[in-house]
Amino acid sequence: MKDSYGRSIDYLRISLTDKCNLRCGYCMPENGINELPHDEILTSREIVRIASIMHDMGVMKVRLTGGEPLVRRGVAGFVRELSEIPKLEIAMTTNGMRLGEFVAELKEAGLSSVNISLDTLNEDTFKRLTGADGLKSVLKGIDSAVEAGLRVKLNCVPIEGINDDEITALTGYAKEIGVPIRFIELMPIGCGIRYKGIPTDKLIARLKETYGEAKPSESKVRTESGPAVYYGFKGYRGRIGFISPMTHSFCDSCNRARLTAEGFLKLCLYHPYGLDLKTPLRSGVTDEELGRLIAEAIGNKPKAHSFGLTDMGDSRKMVQIGG
Ligand code: SAM
Ligand code: SF4
Repeated sequence: MKDSYGRSIDYLRISLTDKCNLRCGYCMPENGINELPHDEILTSREIVRIASIMHDMGVMKVRLTGGEPLVRRGVAGFVRELSEIPKLEIAMTTNGMRLGEFVAELKEAGLSSVNISLDTLNEDTFKRLTGADGLKSVLKGIDSAVEAGLRVKLNCVPIEGINDDEITALTGYAKEIGVPIRFIELMPIGCGIRYKGIPTDKLIARLKETYGEAKPSESKVRTESGPAVYYGFKGYRGRIGFISPMTHSFCDSCNRARLTAEGFLKLCLYHPYGLDLKTPLRSGVTDEELGRLIAEAIGNKPKAHSFGLTDMGDSRKMVQIGG
């Protein structure tokens, strides 16, 4: 499935819920959001139907996200149903709080990889940033995912005055447990504007001070690395990735679409454009017709985001999009 700029769209991020058990200051408003009523959220059958139609159109990988995907009941059941779609890779992005509880079931159901958000290794900072006393649960979740044999990556959003003194502690921890860590530039979406992120180049310069010379990895395999650029550092055994939406836009090779929990096919993280799929789904549309609507929407995928240049125009908060 190609958009009008010739980009292949083969990756769908599916938000299972807009609810979350954390309140990360850069993602979720302090007083929470107006959560969707139960009947406004797509059912597992509706989600699997969309995934299956989009798979026929070329989507090869889905990532379950949220809010927090693991606060939705029956997530392993979703994974099991999705895993019946042949050759569809199923991944998840989670805050890790409940991963320890579910990881064995998820793995058995067909989940192949998990990205776990880890912004700090300090219990007080965790509490200040997320509003919860949860670091131990997250670390336990990470351990259990590694033990279960899932492919694990850590995601960290470096923020001035919050966790910028912990960058090498975090890379050290990632090395110790043998998983890659990726640093994501803070995006000025919703509550993100209250904080100051750290640009990738500045972060690389800082890491060089500890680990010595750095070289970008040769690997350009998109499905494996997504928008992350990995670097090897002379004194660091392991991979450190950088996702730089603000300073090194990767829109030219964007391969993704997003499905929100209420069934909106969102074509770009920044722009509000997209298509409501729930109304046609619930009005008895055929698979062929749904496929045609999706293809038309993908054809209108915007060329690039304009973070920092113009107002976003989309009132959705990150917690309602899923990253
Ligand atoms: N709850 C899950 C989690 O935290 O991993 C999945 C949803 S969360 C919205 C997905 C990712 O988006 C997380 O890695 C989070 O750090 C990132 N994120 C949230 N708000 C962001 C922002 N303003 N800029 C950059 N990344 C952000
Ligand atoms: Fe934090 Fe993820 Fe919840 Fe946002 S959705 S508040 S990043 S745990």
